[in-house]
Amino acid sequence: MANFFTDNEDLQFQFDNMDWDTVIDIVEAGFPDEEGYASNEEAVAFFRDVLTQMGEFIANEIAPHSKELDEQHPEILDNGEVKEPERMEKIMKALGELGAMGLSLPRRLGGMNAPLVVNSMLLEMLARADVSVMSHFGFHGGIASALLLYSIEEGSTEITNGGITKTRFDEQIAAMATGQEWGAMVLTEPGAGSDLAQIRAKAVEQEDGSWRLTGQKIFITSGHGEHHIVIARSEDPSTHPGLKGLSLFYCPAHIEKDGEKVRNFAIGGVEGKMGQHSAVAATLDFEDSYAELIGQRGHGFLGMLLLMNNARIAVGFESLGIMENAYRKSVAYAEERVTMGKPIVQHEMIADYLDEMDVLIAGLRAISFKAATYEEVATRMKGMLKTQPPQDDKERREREKKMRRMKRKARHLTPLIKYVGGEECVRFARMAMQIHGGIGYIVEAGIEKLLRDALVIPVYEGTSQIQALMALKDNMQSVIRNPGRFFSMQAAARLDAVRGDPMDRLVAKMRVHVLNGIQTILTNIAADKLGDLRGVPVLNWRAAFMKDWDPGKDFSFGMLHAERLCQLLCWEAMGKALAEQAKAAQGTPQEEKRREIALRFLERYEPRARGVLLQIEEKGSVFRRLLGNGNGNGKGKKKEDLAA
Ligand SMILES: Cc1cc2nc3c(=O)[nH]c(=O)nc-3n(C[C@H](O)[C@H](O)[C@H](O)COP(=O)(O)OP(=O)(O)OC[C@H]3O[C@@H](n4cnc5c(N)ncnc54)[C@H](O)[C@@H]3O)c2cc1C
Repeated sequence: MANFFTDNEDLQFQFDNMDWDTVIDIVEAGFPDEEGYASNEEAVAFFRDVLTQMGEFIANEIAPHSKELDEQHPEILDNGEVKEPERMEKIMKALGELGAMGLSLPRRLGGMNAPLVVNSMLLEMLARADVSVMSHFGFHGGIASALLLYSIEEGSTEITNGGITKTRFDEQIAAMATGQEWGAMVLTEPGAGSDLAQIRAKAVEQEDGSWRLTGQKIFITSGHGEHHIVIARSEDPSTHPGLKGLSLFYCPAHIEKDGEKVRNFAIGGVEGKMGQHSAVAATLDFEDSYAELIGQRGHGFLGMLLLMNNARIAVGFESLGIMENAYRKSVAYAEERVTMGKPIVQHEMIADYLDEMDVLIAGLRAISFKAATYEEVATRMKGMLKTQPPQDDKERREREKKMRRMKRKARHLTPLIKYVGGEECVRFARMAMQIHGGIGYIVEAGIEKLLRDALVIPVYEGTSQIQALMALKDNMQSVIRNPGRFFSMQAAARLDAVRGDPMDRLVAKMRVHVLNGIQTILTNIAADKLGDLRGVPVLNWRAAFMKDWDPGKDFSFGMLHAERLCQLLCWEAMGKALAEQAKAAQGTPQEEKRREIALRFLERYEPRARGVLLQIEEKGSVFRRLLGNGNGNGKGKKKEDLAA
């Protein structure tokens, strides 16, 4: 019988090579209870069983319905509620009965208390079957986990004997764990998508401490749910402009009024979309709608980032599902379709496509597992530091240090996963269409659906450009903070690039390209700002950089090349992770295979990285003319600027 877990050798490898001890120790220590496992081995066996059962269900009960899911659209009813497509409703009901929505929620609230990384594997398998199902599914357990996290963060969680006995959102979490209810992440407005500082939805505090929300939110996935996490402007823009004036709110879709259950805000409409047809993207109209503050006033953006970090890693797994689907369909077709006397899989160009797809899936999966683990460990450690703070000062400091290290690692990988996942799942769907030739364009074959479903992945949860800007900012800041460390890393990478094992040399070469890219960007930013960095001692860069910034102009060179730098960072991270896995597999039956995958990835992407670096280093006028106001056609620029 088909099974999306057991049929996937690379996924099995990742599962087998997870650092389960670290993850389980922290997951179980965070929520100790009598129903816990007798040992970590027992826990791993349980996760494997659950994923095997889910893999079978998804392959046999969801994947065969993907065409039907594409044909059915949600609709808005006369009573203002949304009618979900029938097939989606049936699937969600079945997943709820299997306990899938509560996979990573605490046992006391109806969940199975599995690590989030187990949930991530489930997300990948669901996306491989149908992206709209994964998307809607994610807003059950995902919103419940976020509410749990918020309750811990704001200190409204009760702990007895080291275990959570009550959270502020017990009722909501338990309802979402059953699959009967779900929520949404409500940010976007007509004038505020990437630029959340433009949010206008207004929140006003009431005498009884509750709040009222007014404003419109658009494109809200699963916006027909019950439990919404909404970001709105709570502070006066003249004293708290931009992101500083935002707060986070819990807003139920229904409230009790005069003994009756009524809608708290209206669903203004359901969008007709290019793909992911069975999933809902709703407009929500808030008008004096009841809401409760989450966390501190004015800290809404930070709160939203907590939710978004997890969501962006989840998008990485969503992309993997699409890529796996595209790859498998392409291999199957290429083996069977014969042209010019042989199956097209034997034609060099098609073989090249398929080889690229194979290694890229392995690369993205390797960094996605790493990021999911870092994020989970960091988040749970942070929660435990609040709920079970160590009495010993030294131990507390050590744990805080470890938590920050994990968080830094997660923060480094998260935008890369979102970027590379979003961009590559679209390219994979496009390659799959090309490999299928004419039939790829025909609806019946189900290949064009992959492309339609994929095209929004580089847009939602922060566009690719926003991810690139985040990666740029973090990397620039870390060099400016410690330029000495940067130059020693560069020297070490250059040395490693010419000595030792060929796989290690390729990893080091990738590192050199990344560091050279960062250096070129920094020196150009500095030259634009300071005239020239020559003569400024390296250790004085920080002071020079921090003085009198005009962010609209001074970072122009970096912003122009942010996406190129992001590509370099992605390829380096994937190559490095694959090489680490190859080393970890030494002495096991997987040794040869893992080394071969790592080398195939590195040999493909090292020359490509060299090419991208050349573009960043390009001194001609092609890119120069785009600097400043970003207007390449010269409109709005002075003649002398263009001449320069
Ligand atoms: C199907 C679907 C589901 C969605 N689900 C949700 C949801 O559940 N909740 C929610 O709140 N929102 C949701 N969204 C909204 C989505 O997150 C936004 O559309 C997205 O963040 C982009 O915002 P925007 O559409 O306003 O584009 P804009 O921000 O206007 O961006 C337009 C283009 O300009 C680029 N750009 C913007 N600023 C910069 C810059 N500084 N430098 C370089 N390039 C830049 C962007 O990358 C993009 O290419 C969904 C959207 C869709 C289509």
